[in-house]
Amino acid sequence: MIDSNASKVTKMYPLPHMYVVKDLVPDVSNIYAQYKSIEPYLKERDGTQQGKEQYLQSVEGGQKLGGLYECILCDCCSTSCPSYWWNGDKYLSPAVLMQAYRWMIDSRDEFTEERLSKLQDPFSLYRCHTIMNCTKTCPKAIAEIKKMMATYKEKKISAA
Ligand code: SF4
Ligand code: SF4
Repeated sequence: MIDSNASKVTKMYPLPHMYVVKDLVPDVSNIYAQYKSIEPYLKERDGTQQGKEQYLQSVEGGQKLGGLYECILCDCCSTSCPSYWWNGDKYLSPAVLMQAYRWMIDSRDEFTEERLSKLQDPFSLYRCHTIMNCTKTCPKAIAEIKKMMATYKEKKISAA
């Protein structure tokens, strides 16, 4: 945050724990690759909505996405996360997990189980140890994914 007291010197740094391309510009290619990996778009099985101008969502469905869709992927949360500093190649980061959650709970998306299935390894999701360095929003989304994952695993075990 910039101090409003203009008599004080303000120091600016690039995002922490990132490779710096130049000056304040960090290399965010890893985060964008991880963002792409969660397929951040609506997926449906039979394609009946494809080509339509709008795929309307219920008011209640839209309300669930409040606080999630506003994320601008600034990466402030991800770059303040110790788990991401140490395992940035495998841990998806709070920002990307929050985006993953945003699509999992979209009432129009039909690939929730597949989305969960992709996060089952020990790193993608479970490297979040709730250290709470990030923000208030991200750990809540991550905790919700963990709950959804527990239900998903139980369902798989009982179906086996
Ligand atoms: S959730 Fe993280 S990446 Fe998204 S806007 Fe907030 S701090 Fe930035
Ligand atoms: S709560 Fe999870 S995502 Fe947030 S800083 Fe801690 S380990 Fe990282």
